[in-house]
Amino acid sequence: MQILEGIKKYANTDRIALKCDGQTLSYKELEKYSESIALFLKQEHEDLNTPIMIYGNKDNLIMACMIGALKSGRAYVPLDISFPLDRVITVKEEVESKILFNFSSNSKEEFGDNIKVINAEELERIFSKFTGKLSKDEWVKEDENAYILFTSGSTGKPKGVQISSNNLDNFIDWISEELNIDGSEKVIMNQAAYSFDLSVTTIYPGLTHGCTLFSLSKKTLSDYKEMFSQFETSNMGIWVSTPSFAGVCVTEDKFNKEMLPCLESMIFIGEVLPKKLAAELIERFPNTRVINGYGPTEATVGVAANDITKEMIEDESALPVGIPMKTSGIKIVDENGKEVRDGEKGEIIIIGKSVSKGYFNNKEKTNESFYYDVFEGREWRAYRTGDMAYYENGKLYYCGRRDFQIKLNGFRIEIEDIENNLRKVKNVKNAVVIPVYKDNKIAYLQGIIQLKEENELSNIKNGMIIKKELGEYIPSYMIPRNIKIIDSFPTNINGKIDRKRLMEDM
Ligand code: AMP
Repeated sequence: MQILEGIKKYANTDRIALKCDGQTLSYKELEKYSESIALFLKQEHEDLNTPIMIYGNKDNLIMACMIGALKSGRAYVPLDISFPLDRVITVKEEVESKILFNFSSNSKEEFGDNIKVINAEELERIFSKFTGKLSKDEWVKEDENAYILFTSGSTGKPKGVQISSNNLDNFIDWISEELNIDGSEKVIMNQAAYSFDLSVTTIYPGLTHGCTLFSLSKKTLSDYKEMFSQFETSNMGIWVSTPSFAGVCVTEDKFNKEMLPCLESMIFIGEVLPKKLAAELIERFPNTRVINGYGPTEATVGVAANDITKEMIEDESALPVGIPMKTSGIKIVDENGKEVRDGEKGEIIIIGKSVSKGYFNNKEKTNESFYYDVFEGREWRAYRTGDMAYYENGKLYYCGRRDFQIKLNGFRIEIEDIENNLRKVKNVKNAVVIPVYKDNKIAYLQGIIQLKEENELSNIKNGMIIKKELGEYIPSYMIPRNIKIIDSFPTNINGKIDRKRLMEDM
């Protein structure tokens, strides 16, 4: 794996690998600690080859755990603390994980039986007891899983996307060239949660090429004054975020080239980059490239990107999401799977090196979305994205989804995932969740609930109780902002809940 070679190489220098809330971890330390963790996993848990779970936020040592897992030949499963315990346990049962590195405030017992939980303090013991190096033969290689990322699934259970060493090496080659990550000392922003594939855009090219990953903990992100003051001293060279996060930053007038004077590029992946925001960023950072990238977790983060120019912003149409990478094909097909002509809309199919082998332990969902297809005369894995788009002059233009998957503040959410979990709430009989739009963007989610048993409580009070209980099952970013209680749902001619009417009533 290129990332493991990169860390080894820069461990011979004084470079800093990670910086989080002022705490640093050098490449030397990352190399040493990850070797200890790999040795610990090999020697004490030789027989347990199942994926390693890591639950936490942005502690620098989380990276040592991820890298240690890779060096021991095991995949890791990163779970941000925004995942409630119930979801963590669901994932544990799904992957049959036997080891969990715990950086959360949950106690060991809360993770249940059949799993060894290692708290952050215990890592010290591992670092002093397990010294030495594991052979490279033990590393995760080729088509073996490097990580499994759990994304929202329509059944109410998250789906585990398996990404291999080969998938990642292909991504590193493409994105490093795209962003000019060339081995010179650069600081890259590491803001996205590790359970969100956007973070891979920072971690993999960054650590392969000796960059410093500039992390912001959840705590810092919630204190804007502190966050902007950290930006000022960051020396940030490459910005990686969702457009939503940049949208929050531009509310601060001082967020401009004076605050981030070394900024070479800003890359956005994961949701629509609004024209207004792109224009604002180009104006505030005139010497910085603004890049729009596109890709799903299932095709290793990103498969297309392009620089946004002033001309594109002045143009009538939306901003292009990119020119495809050379090692993967992106074709647009109609409902019959037939390729459409330039300018015609259809579904995006991704074929080639970047495509995952499928969802962990879920043949049915894998077969629904993955198949084999031909790209440049060879058969490869292919993925049906569910994204609608068209080509114009070799550039890809995104135009929405064909299902109930949405993006809210950059987070990928299946509406049915929320609805199925709402139905688990004690006093909920049935539930519908509606995205509420403002300026062509989803502003918030509205939950509409039919209660099992009517009560005397106000709508607000019922809403609060439902939201609190829902928080036990799904991450906080998925909880609808508003809850409306209704007596019965309107139905359409087919007898199905009339979502269109509910939306109109919003
Ligand atoms: P995720 O798996 O969380 O990275 O989400 C992938 C989905 O985000 C894609 O399938 C698209 O629907 C959406 N997406 C990614 N990049 C863009 C983009 N540049 N513009 C619009 N939507 C995007």
